[in-house]
Amino acid sequence: MTAGADLRAWSTEGRQPSIAIIGAGMSGIAAVVKLRRAGYSDLSVFEKTDRVGGTWRENTYPGLSCDVPSRWYSFSFALNPDWNYRYSYGPEIQAYMETVAEDFGVTDVVRFRTPVTDLRYEAPSWRLTTGNGEELRFDIVISATGVLHHPAVPEIEGLDTFEGACFHSARWDPSVEIAGKRVGVIGTGSTAAQIVGAITQDVGEMFVFQRTPQWMAPLYQKKYSSFTKRLLRLFPFLQRFGYDWYKRGMIRVFGAATVGDKNKQQILSRICRKNLEQNVSDPELRARLTPDYQAACKRLVFCSDFYPAISQPHAHLVTDAIARVTPKGVQTADGSVHELDVLVLATGFDPSAFILPTKVTGEGGRDLETFWDGAPRAHRAVAMPGFPNFWMLEGPTGPVGNLSLITVTEHQLDYVISMLDKMKAEGLAAIAAKEAAFREYNDAMREAIPNTVWVTGGCTSWYMDKSGMPNLYPFPPQRYLDDMQDPDFSEFRLMRDGEGEALAAA
Ligand code: NAP
Repeated sequence: MTAGADLRAWSTEGRQPSIAIIGAGMSGIAAVVKLRRAGYSDLSVFEKTDRVGGTWRENTYPGLSCDVPSRWYSFSFALNPDWNYRYSYGPEIQAYMETVAEDFGVTDVVRFRTPVTDLRYEAPSWRLTTGNGEELRFDIVISATGVLHHPAVPEIEGLDTFEGACFHSARWDPSVEIAGKRVGVIGTGSTAAQIVGAITQDVGEMFVFQRTPQWMAPLYQKKYSSFTKRLLRLFPFLQRFGYDWYKRGMIRVFGAATVGDKNKQQILSRICRKNLEQNVSDPELRARLTPDYQAACKRLVFCSDFYPAISQPHAHLVTDAIARVTPKGVQTADGSVHELDVLVLATGFDPSAFILPTKVTGEGGRDLETFWDGAPRAHRAVAMPGFPNFWMLEGPTGPVGNLSLITVTEHQLDYVISMLDKMKAEGLAAIAAKEAAFREYNDAMREAIPNTVWVTGGCTSWYMDKSGMPNLYPFPPQRYLDDMQDPDFSEFRLMRDGEGEALAAA
C-alpha cells in the first residue's frame, strides 16, 4: 500500500503495484491467492465485517446450501477431499472459506471492519477512502464485492407494523424461536425453497406467499463416506477428476440450456415437470405450483425438500396477492388475514448494485453509478471505460446461474493478472477498456440476448435490469472462460506515465 501521493507508475519504478481488493468473500480470497502466486505481493483486502466468507458468512438461514456440487464449488487450488455432502450446506462452505483464507495467509492481509466508501482515480493510481475516514493510495483496485448482497426488502404496505419477528432471509435472526410457531415466507426462489424445505417440519403452521411459481429440479443429495474421503486423500488426482467432471457436465447442460439449446431446455422442463408430478399428489396444489413459463427462464431452483414440505397438512400455499401486512399477519387481496408469529422475507437482492453504494469516480469525474444508470455493463464483465486500473470480479454480464462462480472468478483473475503482467513488461502506467471495445462487446450481447431462455422463456426475474434485458452472458459459458484465458490487448487503452491525465483533469 502506498501512503501519500505517488504519481509515478509502479511499472516504471520497478516496484510492486499496491493492490486494493474490496471484499473478503470467495472472490477476495481467490484474488489474494492467485495474485501472490503470480508474484504480486503488495495486497490489502478491505472487508466491512469481521470475518471472511462473503455470502456464506452473511447467509445463515436454515437449510442454506449450495446447489452446485461441492467437488466443483471449490477453489481449483484448494480441492477438498473432506466435503461431507455432494451439495454442501452453508456452514461447511463458510468453514472451508475460513480454512482456505487461513491456510493461504489471506487473513493476514485483510483489514476487517473497514468498509470502503469512496474510490477516486487520480492518474495513474486510486485514492481510497474508508468508512473510518482513512485515505490511502493504490495502483490497482479490484472489486470483489459479489453480486447478490444488498437485500431487496419489498415495499409492502404496513410491513413495519407487524408485531411478530420479521427479517430478510439474509439477516436470519437465530434468537427467534420458530418451533411450533406460525411462520410466513414471502417468495419461492432458491432461498425460500431451502428455508421452507428445512423448517416446515418444526413449525406450527407454514404459510408460503407465492407471487410466481418456480420450476424446481430435484437435488440428488448424497453424504460422502469416510471411505470416499480416504480414497480422495490417497489419490488426489481423483479430486481433480471430480472437479473437471462436474465442471464439464454442468457447463454442458445448464450453460447450453439457457443460451438456446432447445433439446437441453426440453430435458430440463421434463425433469422439473416430473419432479412436481412425483412429489405433489394433490392436483389442485400441483396446478397452483405449475409455472406458465419455460424452465430455466428464472434461475432454476434445485431443491428436493420444498414439494414434500408444502404438501404437509400444516403448510399453506397462498397464491392470492399480498395486499398489506397488518400487525397480526399478512392480508391478501381476497381480504383474508393470515396470522403469523414470524415473517421471513425471502425476496431476493438488488442485483444491480455490485460495488455500489461505494462511490467510484473514474477519469474526468466519471461516476460509476451514473455510468451504469441501473443497468450495469462492463467489458468482459471485468472492466469499464473511464475506470483505468479498476477491475471487477463477478461484475456485470458475467456467466451466472447454475454454475460455480468460483471458476468464473478464477478465470477473471487470470485475465487481470495478464493485464498486470503486460503493465510490468511494457512499463505501462494504466490500462482501461476502450469505449469502442466496450460498446462492441455489449452490442454483441444485446443482439444475442433475445435468443436466450431468459427472454424467450416468458418470465421476469432478477436477471432483468433497468434496461429490460437480462444482465447475463448470452453465449455458452465455456466461450467466456476460454476468452478470459486469452486477452486481446487491442481492446484496451495502454497508457504510459502522463497519458490519460488530461482526461482525468477535465
Ligand atoms: P429470488 O430468486 O430473487 O426470489 C425472490 C422471491 O421473492 C421470488 O419468488 C419473488 O417473486 C418473490 N418476491 C419478491 N418481491 C416480492 C413481493 N413484493 N411480493 C411477493 N413476492 C415477492 O431470490 P433468492 O431466492 O434469494 O435467490 C436469489 C439468487 O441467489 C438465486 O437466484 C441464486 O442465484 C442465488 N441463490 C443460490 C443458492 C444456491 O444454492 N446456490 C441458494 C439461494 C440463493 P417473483 O418470482 O414473482 O418475482
